[in-house]
Amino acid sequence: MFKMNENYLKLPGSYLFSTIGKKVNAFAQANPDKKIIRLGIGDVTQPLAPAVIEALHKAVDEMGKAETFHGYAPDLGYEFLRKAIVEHDYQARGCQISVDEVFISDGAKSDSGNIGDIFALENKIAVCDPVYPVYVDTNAMAGRTGEYNEELQKWSDVIYMPCTEETNFAPELPSKEPDLIYLCFPNNPTGSTITKKELQKWVDYALKVGAVIIYDAAYEAYITEEDVPHSIYECEGATACAIEIRSFSKNAGFTGTRLGFTVVPKELKCKGTTLHSLWARRQGTKFNGAPYIIQRAGEAVYSEEGQKQTKEQIGYYMKNAKVICEGLTLAGYTVSGGVNAPYIWLKTPDKMSSWEFFDYLLEQANVVGTPGSGFGPSGEGYFRLTAFGSYENTLEAVERIKKL
Ligand SMILES: *Cc1c(COP(=O)(O)O)cnc(C)c1O
Repeated sequence: MFKMNENYLKLPGSYLFSTIGKKVNAFAQANPDKKIIRLGIGDVTQPLAPAVIEALHKAVDEMGKAETFHGYAPDLGYEFLRKAIVEHDYQARGCQISVDEVFISDGAKSDSGNIGDIFALENKIAVCDPVYPVYVDTNAMAGRTGEYNEELQKWSDVIYMPCTEETNFAPELPSKEPDLIYLCFPNNPTGSTITKKELQKWVDYALKVGAVIIYDAAYEAYITEEDVPHSIYECEGATACAIEIRSFSKNAGFTGTRLGFTVVPKELKCKGTTLHSLWARRQGTKFNGAPYIIQRAGEAVYSEEGQKQTKEQIGYYMKNAKVICEGLTLAGYTVSGGVNAPYIWLKTPDKMSSWEFFDYLLEQANVVGTPGSGFGPSGEGYFRLTAFGSYENTLEAVERIKKL
């Protein structure tokens, strides 16, 4: 008789977005005359840049001719894309990353979920609280997180690093020693960032205790401030302790197109074996590459036109972020984020719970956001708004909130 992976049964229900969906649908049905503005989802809305579309068309045509047809992609991804990545994202910032340390993938969610495959089960993980749920849930599926305590909303074998108002929404070095540290800056959901000097402390700590940092930089293109690092490899010693995961989803609107990459430096070793060789083996066995067409589209993001156009898109979202931050601050809310990230993290007024504020905002302003408690216990009392809406809707949503 077969047995299933019972770790899946330990996972708490992922009620966040389904509960939001149900509540919004129920409200819309009961109030068909109300125009609901959705500032909840973490998905882009602007179309792909013209340079990307052009590259896609060209690559599609190539696939239609025997002379230019492409089958399976090389294991690490096409060199034209890995070269563009290394030049623009690393060498230009003084980071010593080589072309064969970059692994092209279909996105940062799969990579951040799959990376656990190359680590022993007994590794202890540390995560920020609130957190992007993928890091925790994928480790739970692997059996690395112990038992889930419903009341505390915490796993017994996970080290939680609270990111609260007191810590400026940044984690502090954990008191218990972790083996794997998940960091995401600029952060989803809080929109917070840390300076290069602060990130260096994490690198130094990881080197000292022999931990690996899994660094999710999916939002690096939203950074506007000078001293915020775009890559963890801007820190000294990071190539010996950090894996960096990146995505084209938020940088270039590829959420439905699918493209990302992971950097595993060859200097990162365990008992003389490189993690690079393990990840190469893992990907070579379980993954057959991102499509040629999409990798060409990714290459176009790095072209002069592509850079200009995607920067404009990000500028559009960041203008929304500014509208939200300024409007809510004027209305008396305590807000953070929105400066180096498309997320605005606000403190609920009058000690409302995250869900109470969700209902209040939906019913009184017909605006949908995301309850902070859905990202972890330290998110209780907070609320996330995203800058991914249209400018007009964002303006209107802020006006409605101001009038409450
Ligand atoms: C959106 C997002 C990603 C991107 O995932 P893709 O699979 O590349 O679309 C990764 N990490 C975080 C924290 C995100 O919010």
